[in-house]
Amino acid sequence: MEQIIIHVDMDAFFASVETRDNPALRGKPLIIGALPGERGVVATCSYEARKYGIHSAMNIKEAYRLCPNGIYMRPDIDKYKAISNQLHEIWNTYASAAETIALDEAYLDVKELARDLDGARRIARTIKQRTRDELGLTCSVGVAYSKTAAKTASEEKKPDGYFEIPSAKDFVDLIIDRDVRVLHTVGEMTAEKLHAFGIRTVRDVQERQETVVRLLGKQGRWITRLAFGIDERKVTPYRPQDAKSIGREVTFQEDVNNYGLLKDVLVLLALCVEHRAKRHGLHGNGVTLKLTYFDMKGITRSRSVPDCDSADAIYQEAARLLDNVEKRPVRLVGVSIYNLSGEEGRQLTLEDYFAEARQQRNAEQKRLLTELQTRYRLDFAGHLDQIYQADTLHRTVEYMRKHS
Ligand SMILES: [Mg+2]
Repeated sequence: MEQIIIHVDMDAFFASVETRDNPALRGKPLIIGALPGERGVVATCSYEARKYGIHSAMNIKEAYRLCPNGIYMRPDIDKYKAISNQLHEIWNTYASAAETIALDEAYLDVKELARDLDGARRIARTIKQRTRDELGLTCSVGVAYSKTAAKTASEEKKPDGYFEIPSAKDFVDLIIDRDVRVLHTVGEMTAEKLHAFGIRTVRDVQERQETVVRLLGKQGRWITRLAFGIDERKVTPYRPQDAKSIGREVTFQEDVNNYGLLKDVLVLLALCVEHRAKRHGLHGNGVTLKLTYFDMKGITRSRSVPDCDSADAIYQEAARLLDNVEKRPVRLVGVSIYNLSGEEGRQLTLEDYFAEARQQRNAEQKRLLTELQTRYRLDFAGHLDQIYQADTLHRTVEYMRKHS
């Protein structure tokens, strides 16, 4: 095997932790997420709750309808993070590289230590054993020749499962008649698109490659390769020192000494950064504000902000940073996010579970834009998406400067 990859995934993580810490919850349908009566979704639920048809991401109202006698709890993210750190310590012992996907999930490159499938099997068993002994929790582990196959393998025998997929042929044999959703990156929307063209299974993808590529472009090429078991992606550990950033900046035609205007420009820059980050499926874990003063002296100010990917969050932080700099005429202003990680590596925040928080954020974003439009008599309605283009952004900013 060219690569030997383990995918490890904790079973019903949040729910298992709560049950471990409070044995009275054992054997009961336990739903972690929003509480009944709140707007929001299920984060994780116990296997007993799944018997009622409840699953993660389900609307809490629907969950309550299905299981009014369940035990509903809010997630204790700090506690889960601490346990996640302990898990990573175990995982890192056996991996030459570990790639975190979520608090409770990671890819491990074990080729070096395992050497062969037997070795990988031993490592998998040890990880499961140590997780049980040291943390009182169970996990499911998949061993395979590729990342996609490893993830499929860990899902195969959940909970407390173990499964291996040594070759591309084994992988294809296993999934050939399954729904296209089994292929990495195929979510509900992509699946619907494919279904609409009668492409329902992996076999359909194999047989109608051209249609898939025509429908989905680059993603289509990726999933046709996957349908044949081809996935050469490496386990890439997320290390802060690897981080690059995504940013936008503008230079003014005349120096700006109006810090109110600068703050307003930050709104647009934050929108551009959000747009670019979303397009690449990335989010940052910190925000940087960059200024060049009229005398060409440049400064940057940064602050770490976990999981920031919304224009609102980026703007708020950049504006706070701007409040604290020396107020001199400015020639250039820029905003960026750094310590990037992929959507997969995104750590869940409370906002993911509470629709209310998300709606509030969107409303806040809208309010900021409306304010800008009124203040500078701009009309974004028609061309907000054009603002992402460099020349439109510059023109708009210049327009704002002149009308400030
Ligand atoms: Mg899990």
